[in-house]
Amino acid sequence: MQTITVSQVASIIESFSPLGLQENYDNAGLAIGSPSTEVKGILIALDVTPEIADEAIATGCNLIIAHHPIIFNGLKRITGATLTERIVIKAIQNDIAIYAAHTNLDSVWGGVSHKMAEKLNLSNIKVLSPANNQLAKLVTFAPTSAAQKVRQALFDSGAGNIGNYDSCSYNTEGQGTFRGSESTNPFVGEKGELHFEPETRIEVIVPKPIISKVVAALKSVHPYEEVAFDIYPLENKNPKAGLGVIGSLQEPLNSDEFLQHVKTIFNCTQIKHSNIVKHQVKKIALCGGSGFSLLNNAISQNADIFITADIKYHGFFETENKILLVDIGHYESELFAIDIFYELLTKNLPTFAIRKTSLNTNPINYL
Ligand SMILES: [Zn+2]
Repeated sequence: MQTITVSQVASIIESFSPLGLQENYDNAGLAIGSPSTEVKGILIALDVTPEIADEAIATGCNLIIAHHPIIFNGLKRITGATLTERIVIKAIQNDIAIYAAHTNLDSVWGGVSHKMAEKLNLSNIKVLSPANNQLAKLVTFAPTSAAQKVRQALFDSGAGNIGNYDSCSYNTEGQGTFRGSESTNPFVGEKGELHFEPETRIEVIVPKPIISKVVAALKSVHPYEEVAFDIYPLENKNPKAGLGVIGSLQEPLNSDEFLQHVKTIFNCTQIKHSNIVKHQVKKIALCGGSGFSLLNNAISQNADIFITADIKYHGFFETENKILLVDIGHYESELFAIDIFYELLTKNLPTFAIRKTSLNTNPINYL
């Protein structure tokens, strides 16, 4: 069987949902355990509870991958006084590492809300609330003879994607100048002498969470000893990342029937919803977990229905009969996060021991 470390598993997850995509209040990533520990088995769950830790121990899994971080607000002492402290103690005593991908898994393209959309068979999927401060412009200057190689490396590492287009760049021909000191070994020209070189200025858009990877790719192919590049922050929102999704059913469906369908697909014991304002629904907005703050995004994008969780009593009034608002439960809305982890990990580690939890960790019961 292949040998793999906790940090290698973390990199597989982060190559899909980079930690840089998490909200600033979040605490995703490795919370307990050493990155260099060899992983014997992986258990995937939505939450980490004492029962999940017991399941990991019983099944020989020393790495738990969860959607909700075990440590959220920090711990000042670990005495076993709180549930979180007891789970931390149990995990450490049993050499179990705990890792979470939380709001980064919510915000990534293909993440939790996308999975909900997939289950409802929606098409024309867009992000409901595109992320701010997630994009940068990378500008570099390559000798024109090497421009194509440099451009391709930028594209291959994830730069230059705009909407459904890839390989987007802007290129201007110009002239670069440089003079290397006695300690240099210039690719062209002579050290100590001012050199003029035909160069191409290449501009690409880059998601901030992968900037270091893109810069590393740039440096690995650029022929110069010192690679000149500039990174500019952008005000543009990232249409390919952010919370919630909006998409369409193939055909409009009767609102009552669609609510029943939602209940079945997400295996809900009950759902809560506001007044049914239209007989039919077609445009569907979704956000796994506590997504009520996106209600106005759903209304302004003309969604007929917004499905999320954790909606308070007064929240249902705020629809003002403009949209059908549905609370399907936090656990129910995010349960498919387990499938995202499972599909990602089994694809990358096909021969490795990876299991989904057999437990229901929903702390809410329905009578
Ligand atoms: Zn959640």
